[in-house]
Amino acid sequence: MSIEIVPVPAFQDNYLWVGINRPQGTAFVVDPGDCEPIDRFLRSNQLTLAAILITHHHPDHIGGVDALTKRFRCPVYGPKGDRFPQVTDALVEGDNINVLDCRFDIIETPGHTLDHICYYAHSESTGEKPVLFSGDTLFAGGCGRLFEGTPGQMLASLAKIAGLPPDTRLYCAHEYTLSNLRFAAAVEPANQPLQARIERCRRLRDQDIPTVPSTLAEETLTNPFMRTAERPVMLAAEGRLGRPPKSEEETFAVIRKWKDSF
Ligand code: ZN
Ligand code: FE
Repeated sequence: MSIEIVPVPAFQDNYLWVGINRPQGTAFVVDPGDCEPIDRFLRSNQLTLAAILITHHHPDHIGGVDALTKRFRCPVYGPKGDRFPQVTDALVEGDNINVLDCRFDIIETPGHTLDHICYYAHSESTGEKPVLFSGDTLFAGGCGRLFEGTPGQMLASLAKIAGLPPDTRLYCAHEYTLSNLRFAAAVEPANQPLQARIERCRRLRDQDIPTVPSTLAEETLTNPFMRTAERPVMLAAEGRLGRPPKSEEETFAVIRKWKDSF
């Protein structure tokens, strides 16, 4: 079985990802921050909503859930905890769920928020490449701000993602790629794959085409937050600190803090 994954843009720069099983006429949506664009999309494609998947409790990820569940009585998968009441199926690390005949493994990724989870589907399950819905944890070219977690938590979360197959398609929740990559180039001015990626993404954005999904392989080569054990990123952290970083965690913390004010 193979699912089609389509972005429905919302707000300034959110992507509400919709997974579609055309023959069945069913769909799931990840992080519907707004019901209006999803409702319109489902109607014009004559799709029934079979499930809602939530990565974390921020309003731009859950704002449309109440209106959607009123129209479609579908399960709402989300992180365990009491951060928002709409979850019908609370998930923890190692759980798996079946949505449109597609199996997703749950990966807890605290950092951006403490309740953040990602949804991973193997290639056997998607019928194509493996897929990760990474919410606001791993972005194309960057990572989420640390609103609740520590640098150590986020680093550990990203390390879990780094262990997935390199051809994993990464579906994050925002189109932040160009500004992320501008920062990445400040960290690693001599990174050639990064320069090539910036060119590629510029061309896409000029035509208003999403830069997402990316692949995990691309992130490993160009995303500074996935490269905190690499020498050029360590040296950039050293430049900020005025001394060598004591650990990968400190490198990560320094780079993350730098990005906050970039
Ligand atoms: Zn968020
Ligand atoms: Fe967000």
